[in-house]
Amino acid sequence: MPNCIFCEIVAGNISAKIVYEDDKAIAFEDINPQAPVHIIIIPKKHIATIFDIEDNDLDIMGYLYFVAKKIASTKFLDDGFRLVINCGRSAGQEIQHIHMHLLGGRTFGWPPG
Ligand code: AMP
Ligand code: ZN
Repeated sequence: MPNCIFCEIVAGNISAKIVYEDDKAIAFEDINPQAPVHIIIIPKKHIATIFDIEDNDLDIMGYLYFVAKKIASTKFLDDGFRLVINCGRSAGQEIQHIHMHLLGGRTFGWPPG
């Protein structure tokens, strides 16, 4: 997808600190971390937002949680962690390529800001 930063990371045209990659998903450190561990997990397929998920995307969306679990174990987040997917303007979604934030290494407040 042209002009998508995260597709450019998938293509290797923009560098990132990649912590996980396979044929379906890739994960990398957030450039502006909000916690000691802040990883962005994305499908390699360009899906803009949760609004854009289609029937044939259900497997990959579920798979992102499996990747999150694997990364959490490599980062020793046994005490817990938070997964966030912002969707749309009011949630503050900045990058229009679905991504899961994996945040850990500190305690988190509720409700979120
Ligand atoms: P969101 O507000 O949910 O769209 O989150 C976008 C996230 O992507 C933010 O936490 C940014 O810090 C992060 N981000 C933006 N550009 C990059 C990049 N080139 N590499 C890593 N993380 C990025
Ligand atoms: Zn994209």
